[in-house]
Amino acid sequence: MNYRHAFHAGNFADVMKHVCLVALLRSLSRKEAAWCFLDTHAGAGDYDLSAPPSQKTGEYRHGIGRLWQTTTGLPPALADYLSVVRPLIGNDGAPRRYPGSPLIAAALARPQDRLIACELNPLEFASLGETCHGQRGLILQQMDGYQALKAYLPPRERRGLVLIDPPYEQPGELPRLPRELLAAHRRFATGVFALWYPLKDEGPIAGLKRQIKAADLRRILQVELRLTPLVQGGILHGCGVLVINPPWGFAEQMATAMPALAAILAPGSGRGQVDWLVPE
Ligand code: SAM
Repeated sequence: MNYRHAFHAGNFADVMKHVCLVALLRSLSRKEAAWCFLDTHAGAGDYDLSAPPSQKTGEYRHGIGRLWQTTTGLPPALADYLSVVRPLIGNDGAPRRYPGSPLIAAALARPQDRLIACELNPLEFASLGETCHGQRGLILQQMDGYQALKAYLPPRERRGLVLIDPPYEQPGELPRLPRELLAAHRRFATGVFALWYPLKDEGPIAGLKRQIKAADLRRILQVELRLTPLVQGGILHGCGVLVINPPWGFAEQMATAMPALAAILAPGSGRGQVDWLVPE
């Protein structure tokens, strides 16, 4: 387990994923009934952008660093995302920190909601504990995220969001994903599932989508952001989120937000696209 998210925190892929996360949790909060958020690969929870990992790659400068400077004319989903992350980032003129998915979800949780954040790496888990210490309604577990799908689904609330955000560093991870996702969906068929994936070499991801598409599920939305339309083998040039059971209005929100995000992060070459992998 060599992956450390600190090198990538706040990059275009984090921003894109967290725009989806904020919109999905906001949609669940439209009803008074409690929701449960299960974060299978939670990371460290909070990242210092002035620390060596962030400074070494500088990736955040092309993600949150760019979007941060745009204050007007944003589509509602991007403006809402910024309104959630700005207070977590600090407010001294430049982004100094970047919140991870557990912290963003905690910022959106109401008293009745419940969050379960799982992280396997002991060092990342220790940081997560320090970051999230005292957050109401948040359960932290040092455990395998795929085991968590078995242990926590269906949640007692019977409504909620499952975010699956693996590092894709293990050779067996990609073949395992459709099996785990589909089994989790069988346990919690009414739940909303969001699976993040990288666009580097698109062949394996096309295979993942084929397998998910072949299962007997309806309503799977594909939200993608590409910084360049050129397929650059081995280089992260885009990313996507597959959403099973997207809430009402989410597809339309993303169809406006993603092209706008692409135009801000990669003017001239970026593309944001939203399609039904499997329609209604
Ligand atoms: N979801 C986080 C966010 O949006 O802020 C980022 C998560 S990062 C991409 C992936 C995390 O998964 C890493 O911190 C890594 O240590 C952890 N991880 C790797 N394999 C895991 C597993 N089998 N179960 C749980 N966590 C795992």
